[in-house]
Amino acid sequence: MGASNYNGGGLRCGFCRCLIGFLALTGIGIFLAVHLTDANTPADLIPNNFKPSDFIPNWEEFFHEDPFNATGPDDAPRWRNSGNGLNLEIVNALDERWNVYFDRAVQEWDAGNPDVLDLTTSASSVDSSCQAVEGVMKVCNGNYGDTRWKGINEVIIENGVRIISSTAKMNEFYLSGGNDAQKQYTMCHEIGHGFGLPHTDENFNNANTGECMDYTSQPEANMQPGEANFLFLQEMYGTQTGGNTVASASEVPTDRRIPALRGSATISWFEDVVLSVWDDLIPKIEGRVDEREHEDGWQLVHRSLHGSAHEMYLGKGLVVRVHKLFSSERLE
Ligand SMILES: [Zn+2]
Repeated sequence: MGASNYNGGGLRCGFCRCLIGFLALTGIGIFLAVHLTDANTPADLIPNNFKPSDFIPNWEEFFHEDPFNATGPDDAPRWRNSGNGLNLEIVNALDERWNVYFDRAVQEWDAGNPDVLDLTTSASSVDSSCQAVEGVMKVCNGNYGDTRWKGINEVIIENGVRIISSTAKMNEFYLSGGNDAQKQYTMCHEIGHGFGLPHTDENFNNANTGECMDYTSQPEANMQPGEANFLFLQEMYGTQTGGNTVASASEVPTDRRIPALRGSATISWFEDVVLSVWDDLIPKIEGRVDEREHEDGWQLVHRSLHGSAHEMYLGKGLVVRVHKLFSSERLE
């Protein structure tokens, strides 16, 4: 399927889409049942030129829904949590020019109402390859070239539900020439995906919702998270019982740090998996600009005019999901 001008504003609710799809399929079933008495074989029931789009306009968009959109709070993959909010470490692997955008985005995500997130930041050396680290979100920048995407988020999901790592990259090929609003919007958006959040809206040109999970042609209007994001997060993680201050890792007591999810032997297993992904698979999905990512073995989950989502099964219950936010500059 090529890029399509998808209007997410018309049917924003994933349940509504499912319901309409179900009703349409029911209609097809009734149509076929009515004609059953005239048919000799099952093949006779289906016209030679049958196309699902005869019944459901834009049918592919009903069934290739973005998992970040189609999932509600009950279904969205998420980090391990206690039910009293999400405590998460975010590793700053950016170069210093990006710190102002990173600091602001983390502060705003941490200070949300309802209070769901308790974020810890730590600094690493600058790492544009942004190799995943188990149990944390990592944020990076680099000139990744004319890849179409200005921001990308790559999460590793265990058993379909558990996010075990997230990496977000800011592509300076597009963003270095962008204004502060473009950088802030992209930073806020990709960090938001890192918590497991969906898009709130994929229509680039409709009214802005004022939060950064809404696609927009006016990033200055959507530079920060908003109430809709925090209500969604509250459904996923519950609410914090403590304070609301971002701490740097050095100031955080050890018992508030993100615990290792497994023993040391399994951590090296995770690193083995990640190394094979990052060395081979990730450059392919990041570098493809011809909308034929599936030829590299990636499954297309969803594509719209301003973004796409792809998955690759890694074995052992692990999936890596990649979410691209396209640069509007390249579309014009
Ligand atoms: Zn996105």
